[in-house]
Amino acid sequence: MSDLKNKRIITVATTGAWPTKENTPNVPLEPEEIAEEVYACWKEGAAVAHIHVRDDEGRAAMEFGKFQKTVELIRAKKDCDIILNLTTSGGVGLKEEDRIRPFYELKPEMASYDCGTMNWLHTSVFENNPAFLEKLGGLMQEVGVKPEIEAFDPGMIYNAAYYLKKGVLKAPLHFQLCMGCAGGIAASVKNLVFMKETMDSVAPGSTWSTFGVGAGAMEILYAAVAMGGNVRVGMEDNVLYKKGVIAENNMVFVARAKRIIEEFGCEAATPAEARQILGLAQ
Ligand code: ZN
Repeated sequence: MSDLKNKRIITVATTGAWPTKENTPNVPLEPEEIAEEVYACWKEGAAVAHIHVRDDEGRAAMEFGKFQKTVELIRAKKDCDIILNLTTSGGVGLKEEDRIRPFYELKPEMASYDCGTMNWLHTSVFENNPAFLEKLGGLMQEVGVKPEIEAFDPGMIYNAAYYLKKGVLKAPLHFQLCMGCAGGIAASVKNLVFMKETMDSVAPGSTWSTFGVGAGAMEILYAAVAMGGNVRVGMEDNVLYKKGVIAENNMVFVARAKRIIEEFGCEAATPAEARQILGLAQ
């Protein structure tokens, strides 16, 4: 295997909790649509798929059956070795047991771990209280699912360092630095540098990925590649490919990220390489 230093992991987040068919008719919402999109994104160079599902009305949901079907459909594609990363949030105000069940039973290689509570989009509270985070970290260790620590502001990075010290999380940590979500830190290069330096100081040896929502998306994508980070793209974070242009599908985001990584002089990591970088079982 070639030098992993030059490999960058592309994560695709095809669906998320928020975009509706009214926002973009191209967002995949049903398990069949999500699985096909993930498969096509893997062919374009994505190594990790961050999965959300929706209920029958297309709303944010943590319906176990939808996760089960989506995961089964992706796993049924025998040539596809993409790493699965299931959300443990899926929206706001959802029950803790519903947030836990998909990763606990379906045992993806990774699952998201939102490392603090925040006001979400100026409309609601995205609750990840201390007792829940302790429970979540413990259960992830129990079933061997690697947490992807989503940090929406620097405080959440310090929270992760606290849980690392307490043994709720195990090193090496992997962070998703979430930039530009209303209620969290804004998407700018200056902020990304600060987030990364904070991470390096309190949890040295961690790996990281990032994305920017909205106007800061490209700034964060280019900066991440320049700073040695991994990247997340997809309709969970942005439905526009560029100003005024709705993305046709998630594959165009993956293809663009791969081009940028290659123009920079690096390569998109295969899922096998991503497993090495992230310390996942081979
Ligand atoms: Zn998500």
